[in-house]
Amino acid sequence: MTNSSTIFDFKGMFQAYVDEHQKVWDHDRASTLGASEAFGCLRKAWFDKRGEDAGYKPDEDFVQGWGAAERGNIMEEHWVVPVLETYNPEGTRFHFGSKEDQVTYVYGANSATPDGLFTGCSRDALSLYGVDDLEADCFLVEIKSIDPRSKLDEEKAIHHGQAQQQLGIIRSMTEHKPMYCVILYINASFYDEITPFVVRFDEDYWRSARIRAKQLNAAKDAKDIYAEGILMDGCEYCKWKTACAGINKAAVPTKEKKSAFTEVQLQELRDLARQERQADADMKAAKERRDDLRVDMKDMLSRAQTKKASDDHFKISWVWQDGRETVDTKAMEADGIDLSKYKKKGNGFEKMTISYSDSVE
Ligand code: SF4
Repeated sequence: MTNSSTIFDFKGMFQAYVDEHQKVWDHDRASTLGASEAFGCLRKAWFDKRGEDAGYKPDEDFVQGWGAAERGNIMEEHWVVPVLETYNPEGTRFHFGSKEDQVTYVYGANSATPDGLFTGCSRDALSLYGVDDLEADCFLVEIKSIDPRSKLDEEKAIHHGQAQQQLGIIRSMTEHKPMYCVILYINASFYDEITPFVVRFDEDYWRSARIRAKQLNAAKDAKDIYAEGILMDGCEYCKWKTACAGINKAAVPTKEKKSAFTEVQLQELRDLARQERQADADMKAAKERRDDLRVDMKDMLSRAQTKKASDDHFKISWVWQDGRETVDTKAMEADGIDLSKYKKKGNGFEKMTISYSDSVE
């Protein structure tokens, strides 16, 4: 029996481990646009690098969880890299795998830390994945552990961009000239679900990554960069939502000006409105078509009394999900509970209403 207190805080123990094992970068990350950021929301990248110095405050209630990042590190270090280093075809070699071997390459205002590079490859090394000619004796590897609920028909756009920047930098800065990067998605729950996507180097993409890094550096304020996250559904895990919404709000004019446009500009706006309405109608028609196809699939599954169907090319799963438990605030208020001190106003958002008609009233 010990006389000193030995109180265990299991969550705290893991937190302490993560705090002590934070990756230390040997270059100033604020000075470059990393490959993983290059095709994400550029305004977010600006906020992350300069926001606090410029006086912006991150959202008070934002909590940066470390679970997903740590899951990725553990999977990479203890599962994927040992396999890639050991079970690779004879004559090939895997570089950058272990933490000690990782290198961050800085090319102007862009940077990349590749997960891996296979060298000593034959031209048909990726023939199982539709690449008959590797066009080099090497290729890059990017490792991603993914949430089991993720839907993957192709690599995510942000990962495609990351692969392009890595290829561009490795090709520009080393003796290796890989033309391909394999993005290996590994299901975080079912380790045997491994989905490789192959990305071929595209010079235009690489050029645009360099332009984006220059735009980032040239921006004096977050308002100088478009809020791209809104378009790419990328705001959920951003800690700058309030600051960003403030900028967007300030950009919306509050007065209506008569004769603000010339006839030529009006014509341009009219044409944009016509195209936007047509795109909206196309989207609605595509959604209706999708819904009809889903009804047909449900009919077939229902008739066969099965919730799943699949072959080598497709997977369909049809399940019932229980509704989420919610708190009935109206009933609480009706019972005399004062909720006013718990209420908070969310960030506002832009709203644009557009109509177009070929006929003139
Ligand atoms: S809130 Fe969205 S648009 Fe704004 S900086 Fe964050 S990710 Fe970008």
